[in-house]
Amino acid sequence: MSRVYNFSPGPATLPEEVLQQAQAELLDWQNLGFSVLETNHHDPAFLAVAETAERDLRELMSIPANYHVLFLQGGARSQFSMVPLNLLHNKTTADYLNTGIWSDMAWKEASRYCQAKAVINPETTLNYTTIPDPQQWRCNPEAAYFHYADNETVNGVEFVMPPLVGNVPLVADMSSNILSRPCDVSQFGLIYASAQKNAGPAGITLVIVRDDLVGHALPLTPTMFNYQAHAKAHSIYNTPPTFAWYLCALVFQWLKRQGGLTSIAAINARKAEKLYHYIDQSTYYTNGVDKRYRSRMNVVFKLHDETRNTAFLAGAKEAGLVGLKGHKLVGGMRASIYNAMPETGIDHLIEFMTHFEKLHA
Ligand code: PMP
Repeated sequence: MSRVYNFSPGPATLPEEVLQQAQAELLDWQNLGFSVLETNHHDPAFLAVAETAERDLRELMSIPANYHVLFLQGGARSQFSMVPLNLLHNKTTADYLNTGIWSDMAWKEASRYCQAKAVINPETTLNYTTIPDPQQWRCNPEAAYFHYADNETVNGVEFVMPPLVGNVPLVADMSSNILSRPCDVSQFGLIYASAQKNAGPAGITLVIVRDDLVGHALPLTPTMFNYQAHAKAHSIYNTPPTFAWYLCALVFQWLKRQGGLTSIAAINARKAEKLYHYIDQSTYYTNGVDKRYRSRMNVVFKLHDETRNTAFLAGAKEAGLVGLKGHKLVGGMRASIYNAMPETGIDHLIEFMTHFEKLHA
């Protein structure tokens, strides 16, 4: 079977070139006669992968020298605990901006460790379809940090710019939009992202953290949850997910070949605009997200006649378009169009949606 267009929210489609390279190197990597999967994590060949991955990520995101770059395990959900455990230091409160399902989950988890304050009234998000005006946020200038999700994968809501929170360290969950556009890392105290959408496969999590925020973990912090332990060991404190790390390294090289984040951001903007434009002019499909905050990565939409959802998904699959089912909590459809989704994928999706609309409108 030939490859289909995979709109899965994550683990998500990977660049074909990356998969081909991994396949070609699987049995015999770098003339070693064995695979990267079978390489010890202290072997110079693997250490070179780790170093190159970090160097390329630093270059792609222009990460300043006073930030640690960590490659961890445990997914973004572990960060929901690691952030408070490491960043509370001698404070007891942190601010949380809940603009969707994921930031809400991060807030609930943090409440186990501190007074996690929701800075907005949930009703003002209109069911997670908009971001309330910053003037309505009740921020605490004494909070240990301010947490938000730059892109809400399930709800399809994305920030255009990072929020301005004064001197309070800004913490961003960028799981679903890291590396999709340039960002000024110096505005953040910490950025985290599980890799399985824009950076690589599942099993590895990127953490970019300003060095002054490391080294103050609460005494009860498990060592595996302590950023300092991982920073000191260059993310090889224990056996790391070597294959996932290697694949991330290949994705970073692929991104550099695409011209880096400015180039990929232009492509991403074009892809998203095309799809939203089509949805907006149609009377059969709707997207209920505030136009100012529509995600460039996760385009959620509903059919006018929701009894046709199953037929839509079956027809899409037949047309070579998979992974379009919306998250169970919100229903409808979702096209996840991360960096590795080619523009032709959007064209094919629009073509299928037009065809389906003609049949059923
Ligand atoms: N945050 C966001 C924005 C996500 O999209 C996800 C996963 N979909 C998570 C956190 C949780 O990531 P993980 O499953 O890697 O823990």
